[in-house]
Amino acid sequence: MLQGKTALVTGSTSGIGLEIATQLASRGANVVLNGFGDSSAIELVRSRLEQTYRVSVHYDAADMSKRAEIEAMMANAIQIYGSVDILVNNAGIQYVAPIEEFPPEKWDAIIAINLTAAYHTIREALPSMKARGWGRIVNMASAHALVASPDKSAYVAAKHGLAGLTKTVALEAAEQGVTVNAVCPGYVQTPLVAKQIPETAKARGITEQEVVRDVLLAAQPTKRFVTVEEVAALTMFLCSPEASSITGAILPVDGGWTAQ
Ligand code: NAD
Repeated sequence: MLQGKTALVTGSTSGIGLEIATQLASRGANVVLNGFGDSSAIELVRSRLEQTYRVSVHYDAADMSKRAEIEAMMANAIQIYGSVDILVNNAGIQYVAPIEEFPPEKWDAIIAINLTAAYHTIREALPSMKARGWGRIVNMASAHALVASPDKSAYVAAKHGLAGLTKTVALEAAEQGVTVNAVCPGYVQTPLVAKQIPETAKARGITEQEVVRDVLLAAQPTKRFVTVEEVAALTMFLCSPEASSITGAILPVDGGWTAQ
C-alpha cells in the first residue's frame, strides 16, 4: 500500500512511535527511525524491520530539542530518499509537577520536543510534499490536546499548541494533496506513562496503585489502557487513500475520556 513512499517517525525507538514505524514498514514504506536508546538495541530494530519487510530503514539520532539537528535529519532523509512523504511527529516527553514547582528547564524541553520540533519538521518536509501533490502529516497529540489535567501545564500547553499547528497547516496544504491530522491517545502503557506514575504519586500524595486506578484509568470509561496497536492503526488509516478528505482533524483514541 505504501511502496515507494518514505516515512519519518520522530521518537520511534520506543512505545507508540516504534509500533507506527513497524506498521508503516509492514505496508512497504521506507522508514527513518529517530529517538534515543541503546545503540545496539536500535540497530537490532532497524535491521529486523529491513529484513522482515524488505524496505530500507535508516536511523537518525537527532535530538528533537535542537533545531540544527532536526534540520540536518530532514535534509539527510530527503537526500537519501528524495522526499519525506509521511511525517509522524511523535517524539514527546512528560513531566508532572504543580506549576509553582515546575522547573523552567522542564517547561522549555517539553515545549521544544512536543511542539516546536513539529514546526521544524513540517516546514522542512512540506515543500516536497506539495510539489509531489501527496503527503501525510500525523501529529501525535494526546487527550491532553483537548482537555487538561492538573500538574501537567507544559504538556497540556504543548499538546493544545500541536492541535492548533495541525489545523493551521491543514488549511495551508489542503489544495496540494497533503493531509495534516492530530491523533489524541488516552493513556497507553509505554515508558512515558510508567515514568509519570511515581511523579504523580508524589505530586498528589497517593500511592502508585492509586495513581493507576484513581488517576489514569479513572479518566477512561473503558477502564483499560489504549494499546499502541490501536493508535498505530488509526495512523495507518490516515495514511491511506481513503483518508484523503480527513484533514485538520483532532482525533481521539482515548477510551471515551474526552466524551465526558
Ligand atoms: P515513549 O517514552 O515510549 O517514547 C518516546 C519516544 O520519543 C522515544 O523514542 C524517545 O527516545 C523519543 N524522544 C524523547 N525525547 C527525544 C528527543 N529530545 N529527541 C528525539 N527523540 C526523543 O513514549 P510514548 O508513550 O510512546 O509517547 C509517544 C508520543 O505519544 C508522545 O508525543 C506522547 O506525548 C504521546 N502520547 C502518549 C500517551 C501515553 O499514554 N503513552 C498518551 C497520549 C499521547
